[in-house]
Amino acid sequence: MEETVFLTQHQPFVFSQIKKSVKHGRLAHAYLFEGDMGTGKHLLTSWLAKRLFCTEVVDNEPCGRCNNCLRIDAGEHPDVRLIEPEGQSIKVDQIRQLQQEFVRSGFESRLQFFTIRQADKMNASAANSLLKFLEEPQGDFVAVLETDAPGKILPTIQSRCQVLHFAPLNPAELAQRLTADGLTGESAKLLAGLTNSYQKAVEISQDEWFNDAKDAVAQWYLYLRKGDLAAFVYIQKKLTALAKEKEQQRLLLQMLMQAYRKERDELLVQQQNPLLFDNTRKSQLILEAEQKLAANVSFQNVSEQLVLRILQQTVGDD
Ligand SMILES: [Zn+2]
Repeated sequence: MEETVFLTQHQPFVFSQIKKSVKHGRLAHAYLFEGDMGTGKHLLTSWLAKRLFCTEVVDNEPCGRCNNCLRIDAGEHPDVRLIEPEGQSIKVDQIRQLQQEFVRSGFESRLQFFTIRQADKMNASAANSLLKFLEEPQGDFVAVLETDAPGKILPTIQSRCQVLHFAPLNPAELAQRLTADGLTGESAKLLAGLTNSYQKAVEISQDEWFNDAKDAVAQWYLYLRKGDLAAFVYIQKKLTALAKEKEQQRLLLQMLMQAYRKERDELLVQQQNPLLFDNTRKSQLILEAEQKLAANVSFQNVSEQLVLRILQQTVGDD
């Protein structure tokens, strides 16, 4: 199953924890799965639901093909329910309806499974209603709350749940996921170097700005590499207009850093050690520029100074 492949590869720790608990019949009533978007929270929920209802479990693995597994995949299993935000929030009626269905099925004492996606979007009355429910459990159930903002979940709810943390993907894993989404390898690698959040990476990649910025930084780097003073003029001519917001300015510097990292990787392959020193020095200069920017020096000042220092460095090489 897709779930098993992903979880084994990217979330071995939480996956083995849940597998052990199911195997030994020690599942908690309620779980809070917390971690960035794209880290596999819902894949584990889906795996767990199938594991609990599958009629052909082999080796602690659901089959993915039996009637129950198929109905769960299609979202049509009567004992597996999903609650998601309606509009901006999850409302108390959604939780109440869930409770009523529980009372009904409770007579048949069947296992019930429910998931609340983006659980941080519960409004106050929904959260309180859920809390009551978790405090006075009726019948046999397993609940999974998923969130990428655990700080917004009531502490009283958190304390009723077993909390499982989904680790962020490492840059290589993230790039792999982004490539699977259809991004070019180059963009995927760049984004994975800018952020370790899948959600953030997708957001940036969908922004038209990203492609403009990518081209602009490639040009900037080319000038710098040639030791061309055009790199200095380019700041005023292009970059300051492109990056008006602080976040964008930060990204431009980070993208430049990525260009030097790529250069470093190439130098390592070619075993060009003398140039490696020079590369490290320039990366250091970019890092210092990022720090100055963070300390509220203007982007133009920071960049112009950076370019002059890099160009000096380049001249010094000859
Ligand atoms: Zn099955």
